Amino acid sequence: MKIKKSIPLIDQHDKNFMYGGKFGGNFIPETLKKPIDDLTKLFEKLRKDKKFLKERDYYFKSYIGVPTPFIKLENLTSHLGGAQIYAKVVSEANGGAHKIYNATVHCLIAKKAGKKFIVGDTGAGYAGKMLSMAAKKFGLKCKIFMGAKDIKRQRPNVQAMKKNGAIIVPVTTGSQTLVDAVSECMRYWVSNCDTTHMCVGSTVGPNIFIKICAWSTAQISRELFQQVKEEFGEIPKKMKLLNCVGGGSSAMGFWNEFMDTDAEFIGIEAGGPKSSKLHAAPLTNGSKIGILHGAAQYVIQDKEGQIGSTDSISAGLDYPGISPLHCFLKDTHRARYTSVNDEDALKAYQLVSKLENISPSLEPSHAFYEAIRLAPKLKSSEIIIVNSCGDSLKDKDIIKQKLGSYIR
Ligand SMILES: *Cc1c(COP(=O)(O)O)cnc(C)c1O
Repeated sequence: MKIKKSIPLIDQHDKNFMYGGKFGGNFIPETLKKPIDDLTKLFEKLRKDKKFLKERDYYFKSYIGVPTPFIKLENLTSHLGGAQIYAKVVSEANGGAHKIYNATVHCLIAKKAGKKFIVGDTGAGYAGKMLSMAAKKFGLKCKIFMGAKDIKRQRPNVQAMKKNGAIIVPVTTGSQTLVDAVSECMRYWVSNCDTTHMCVGSTVGPNIFIKICAWSTAQISRELFQQVKEEFGEIPKKMKLLNCVGGGSSAMGFWNEFMDTDAEFIGIEAGGPKSSKLHAAPLTNGSKIGILHGAAQYVIQDKEGQIGSTDSISAGLDYPGISPLHCFLKDTHRARYTSVNDEDALKAYQLVSKLENISPSLEPSHAFYEAIRLAPKLKSSEIIIVNSCGDSLKDKDIIKQKLGSYIR
């Protein structure tokens, strides 16, 4: 299994059937084939269309607010000693996280396809919140499929989606969480695809959704590449790019432009509570390959191949699978993966918020903990960059409950 140089990673699926002949694919019911083929044709046309690219760039700038800042964390660096620590502050994007890139691109595609409706799934509610935001901006009617259990757990996000005019469809099948919401959303799309576009919230699902999402978040590393060159005059030889991984869309976007450089990629999965056997770290814990949401990937499962339970303090990382792109990067040793537990992520949130002017949400706090663990062992000539892909404000309640106080 090999990554081909100079071919975009998202295009290495089509040429070899699957990523590395092993991951991804389109394990879908026959009824989904036509809408997926149509969407694939449209996207392949649009990504080569200069007018569409101009439009995308315009909305990335005027609506999302790119480029997001690239800053040096001088206090954290001197506190730890060792490597120089930087952050790409993607949480400065409109909506406070990277999910807005994918949501915006899907709305633009929906408009081009002449669709008036857009549907999406959500677990913790952030993908749904961002999609409802973008749908409102672009005048699309939005429906969000969400597990009945998640609706109860994630009230503030449900309210935000409603405020943006979205209709929430409670999913009462199966475990009543994200896994079932995605399946229900796909079923709905099959019967309504003439008028309706579907968005999947991360680099997961049938391959076209992985492609569109990674293509959208790649904006992060296109900017970062220029920012790094400006800061160092070149792409440094000893540079580590740290990113948390749930589905894997922020990490793919953060790494994409650096694929052919010497940059080291480290993905940080959610290790779950210290006291529990449960986690959301399929790559770190050697989970087996299975099929989830139409794609082959490493997935947390039981002996019978049923999707297993997960646990993480961070809702955004609490997913049993992982993008086939990351499975490919792992097996080709282009990236390495590790996990950080709930307690250590909280510690990292606390230290970064205390010392710096950024306050990472619990997802990137997992990556910051790995930076804190690594930096003192490295020379001061080495560079660590962390993708601070979300802001802590959304985690205020849980942080208060766990630490007794919230600082930002
Ligand atoms: C959803 C989310 C994640 C996890 O999703 P990826 O697709 O792995 O990026 C991470 N951080 C934040 C802030 C999120 O909202």
